[in-house]
Amino acid sequence: PAACVGQRQLPRATVESIADHVARGDTGPRQLPPPLPNGLAQLQRLLAGDVTPDGVIAELKAANLRGLGGAGFPAWRKWDTVRAQPGPRHGVVNIDEGEVGTFKDWQVLSTGAPQVLEGLLIAAEVVGLDHVWLYLRDEYHDARPLLQREIDALAPRLRALSERFPHYQPPRIELRRGAGAYICGEESALIESIEGKRGLPRLKPPIVAMNGVFGRPTLAHNLETLWWVPALLEQGGAAWAALGRRGRHGLRRFSVSGRVNQPGVHLAPAGITLRELIDEHCGGMVEGHTLHAYLPGGASGGILPAALADVPLDFDMLAEHGAFVGSMAVVVMSQHDSTRDAALNLMRFFEMESCGQCTPCRAGTGQLVRLMQAPRWDAERMDELSAVMREASICGLGQAAPNPVDSVRRFFAQEVGL
Ligand code: SF4
Repeated sequence: PAACVGQRQLPRATVESIADHVARGDTGPRQLPPPLPNGLAQLQRLLAGDVTPDGVIAELKAANLRGLGGAGFPAWRKWDTVRAQPGPRHGVVNIDEGEVGTFKDWQVLSTGAPQVLEGLLIAAEVVGLDHVWLYLRDEYHDARPLLQREIDALAPRLRALSERFPHYQPPRIELRRGAGAYICGEESALIESIEGKRGLPRLKPPIVAMNGVFGRPTLAHNLETLWWVPALLEQGGAAWAALGRRGRHGLRRFSVSGRVNQPGVHLAPAGITLRELIDEHCGGMVEGHTLHAYLPGGASGGILPAALADVPLDFDMLAEHGAFVGSMAVVVMSQHDSTRDAALNLMRFFEMESCGQCTPCRAGTGQLVRLMQAPRWDAERMDELSAVMREASICGLGQAAPNPVDSVRRFFAQEVGL
């Protein structure tokens, strides 16, 4: 959409730690101590037996840490599922951040790669992973040498840990370079790509936790989810959970773009509303612009009207409005922006990025693009097409592609002649 800008046009995001956030006094009822310096301290606690694998999982559960790549699946449940499978087990870190309007992983990567790697090593030890792959989108080529340097720097430290704790067997860590396909952010397509094949999403079941890389049980996580793991062990899952608002748990990184004074990555309490996010973290709306609409979750999360600016922005909270937050990519639109144009732009994006494996998505996205160009939208044909796409597409791209169309028809019908 016109209001959507990529990360290269945005000012460099501020590096904000939990400690910074707490110091600002806007995280909720509990104040946390500042984090310890990152030095694999939490991994060492685990290896020394100060905390057990069950204890780590209990902290994830107390924090209610959820997958921050968009699906929001409880992390502890994924860890529990994978570790219950027979070995060998593998791991994947998804750094294929390609969702429209999302750039938070770039910030995590460029400022917190060592913490991501420590979270990964803790996960590998708790779940029993012998080989892990970090899958980096090629557009983040600046980050590749940085990440490789951090991986290389780990080797002597892990050797030292193995000498100190003879039972410790660190996993093999490999960095893989993506080739620029949006669909490879979908975990099963990403796994196909790691295996050296074309990145096509797999039919599920079986789920990746049971049958992932090379047919082995696989723990797949977005890198931000792993970034939080050492912090939660250090500060306590329950204390982190208490930082949320309105009964939601913990903190979220929002990628905010559009008509606000301070676009960028903002760490804010889970459960914050759009209005609070704009006022408290984004410096308000740009002068001359009033809130008209917003995308709460990138391309497929729907488009909501200003009247819904007081709904908590968190997993499961927008379902009744036909929307979701996904990876928390918020695009703010004003009276100068057209939701019709934005929806059409998103559908062109889906048409271009469809992997083409299944007909409802491959043909449906193109058909919707054509229908959306009519001065007056054909609601009946759109309904039929959307239903087929939702029910018969293999993966989330085709299933969620009709969301922007449905949103515009539901909330901005006057813009499309209905
Ligand atoms: Fe590919 Fe679209 Fe089918 Fe997903 S829904 S497998 S992106 S054609």
